Amino acid sequence: MTEQPIHPDVRLSDSHESVQQCPYCDRPFTSDRTHDLHLGEKHEERLGETERVQYEEASEEEEEEIFIFHIKMVILIGILWAAVVMLYMVFVS
Ligand SMILES: [Zn+2]
Repeated sequence: MTEQPIHPDVRLSDSHESVQQCPYCDRPFTSDRTHDLHLGEKHEERLGETERVQYEEASEEEEEEIFIFHIKMVILIGILWAAVVMLYMVFVS
């Protein structure tokens, strides 16, 4: 049985150069991390030990970035909430 490419029509814009290409479906990637994440998520059953470790590292790195993004958003919402309260106190009182 031949596996069909998952993303046969994925093309990078001219401003992006392909750093990696999926060996199973030929999808191009602009970073090693997105390539490793793709392999782990779309071709998990075909991964060797090295690729599996790279996927786990990329996945942990992504989770850390998402956590930091959430912390930044909570801080931003807190600042905006405080600013609205201050403006309300200044202009309404
Ligand atoms: Zn692929």
